[in-house]
Amino acid sequence: MKKWNLIIDVAKCENCNNCMLTTRDEHVGNDFPGYAAPQPVHGHNWIKIHRQVRGDGAMVDAAYRPTTCNHCDNAPCIAKAGDGSVYKRKDGIVIIDPQRAKGRKDIVSACPYGAIFWNEELQLPQKWIFDAHLLDQGWKQPRCAQSCPTGVFRALCVEDEEMQAIVKKDRLEVLRPELGTRPRVYYRNLFRFNKCFIGGTVVAESDGQVDCVLDAEVVLKRGDAALATARSDAFGDFKFDGLDANSGEYSVEVSHPAFGKANSGVSLTDSRYIGTLRLG
Ligand code: SF4
Ligand code: SF4
Repeated sequence: MKKWNLIIDVAKCENCNNCMLTTRDEHVGNDFPGYAAPQPVHGHNWIKIHRQVRGDGAMVDAAYRPTTCNHCDNAPCIAKAGDGSVYKRKDGIVIIDPQRAKGRKDIVSACPYGAIFWNEELQLPQKWIFDAHLLDQGWKQPRCAQSCPTGVFRALCVEDEEMQAIVKKDRLEVLRPELGTRPRVYYRNLFRFNKCFIGGTVVAESDGQVDCVLDAEVVLKRGDAALATARSDAFGDFKFDGLDANSGEYSVEVSHPAFGKANSGVSLTDSRYIGTLRLG
């Protein structure tokens, strides 16, 4: 049986919030019986954009991660409801029944991702429904995907085996896999959000002037082991990304056939710009 999955590319999100606004446009004031009661005007972010700023000094970047209901295959919200008022459809989509779940405020805290919101007026837990009401009419993508200008979202209705092959091939990740919730929302380039980098700038003296060095070879090492290699760009900059926070001691070795060598030690707690390395 084919089921729905969503792939979110963190590297493409520009924090425009179109996806959040489109979802609100779809649901605020609109009732979709059997799928979702109207979303209130204030207080609900069925799709929320989280921001992560990394680095310091001359090397800072920001990443944005859209977050929503993961339509988990082992969903704590379904277990908490316990009576079918939250249920998984055959196509993988998790629905909070807008009639049967009335008064069930306890379901809100069952979601470890904070994806469920409480509608005080209707006394109802609510969340993003993957636009199941539209998919059931033949739509191929939810509205968030339709409205995103940079193509962050890609919804796929495929067999689980096919999805797992895509996950493996594209090295997709889910949020908090240690919880065992088995999300159907996958992330590409999640390292931009939850990993660290070591960056720096290579310079050298030439004709009495200190300038940036293009195309120096930069090696990231741990002890004697080389972990990765990079080359400096036109600004002399290099960056090693995808490193774990608090992962200890590294060294950076730089060389260029015309300008010589330099090195620096780095103790990595969080993303670091290690400044200029002057070849000589
Ligand atoms: S993300 Fe939360 S609300 Fe969505 S299915 Fe998983 S546990 Fe339920
Ligand atoms: S619409 Fe796309 S680019 Fe804009 S915030 Fe949402 S995911 Fe990011």
